[in-house]
Amino acid sequence: RALIAASPRLDAPPPALGPIGAPLVEARQVSVSFARPGWRRGRLLAVDAVDIDVAEGEAVAIVGGSGSGKSTLARAIARLGPIDAGEVRWRGEPLPPRKAMRPRDRAGLQPVFQDPVASLDPLWKVRDIVAEPLRRLRPDLDRMAVAARVEAVLAEVGLDPTLADRRPAALSGGQAQRVAIARALGPGPAMLLLDEATSALDVLVAGTILDLLAELQKQHGLAILMITHDLAVARRLCHRIVVMDAGRIVEEGPAERLIAAPAHPITAKLVAASR
Ligand code: ADP
Ligand code: MG
Repeated sequence: RALIAASPRLDAPPPALGPIGAPLVEARQVSVSFARPGWRRGRLLAVDAVDIDVAEGEAVAIVGGSGSGKSTLARAIARLGPIDAGEVRWRGEPLPPRKAMRPRDRAGLQPVFQDPVASLDPLWKVRDIVAEPLRRLRPDLDRMAVAARVEAVLAEVGLDPTLADRRPAALSGGQAQRVAIARALGPGPAMLLLDEATSALDVLVAGTILDLLAELQKQHGLAILMITHDLAVARRLCHRIVVMDAGRIVEEGPAERLIAAPAHPITAKLVAASR
């Protein structure tokens, strides 16, 4: 019974989500290319003139096969990687590369990546990992306030306080991903960008992490941009699904409609593969 309840299903009830607000991210005609080793001319266009919007409080999934350009697009939106053309706007203003962002904007858009253990500094204790972005991005908080905030977000992600003094190697995959989510939540983001954040976890643990994300989404009115190859994962958390193939968006729409009546053959293939 627990097994069935915890594994993501295409026909799961729609997620209970908070209200959707003003535009947060507006990517316009974003292209990203890579040099192809062995190619004298020409580059691989990993993301090809993509437009994508995410509003405050909205949960959007980008789905697609391996190599379709999802991660490259996610990095482009967070301005973690270079873009060849186009623009990403954040709250209506052009977003510079992440290193050049105002701390407020960097705090506002927090990425969480696939491999939870690899994304955490192995030498640091959990409490220092979670405190690090707070020290960097929230100069308004003094040491006491940082410590209090660390305790609060660890509790919010359901991590036992006794784990705060461990290092990442002494955590399970699910615990490590909770730490990564706590670290992202600390600065008080408006949006989480999750790239295959549950893909490295077994199905039961992935289910509990998705439940946690849905709860956080509702509690904080968080926007979520979730990258996943798994339509069932997208369905469990997101209002809207965007389907990518070969660097382009081939279809998008409300999760229920898109799964019930896919319009593009790639979407139909993803639906069939998830059943
Ligand atoms: P996805 O996340 O959908 O699996 P990616 O965005 O990782 O796809 O990759 C899209 C395409 O860009 C693939 O063909 C991949 O090989 C290529 N690519 C991604 N990152 C790089 C890189 N740093 N250098 C060269 N090619 C890359
Ligand atoms: Mg990827």
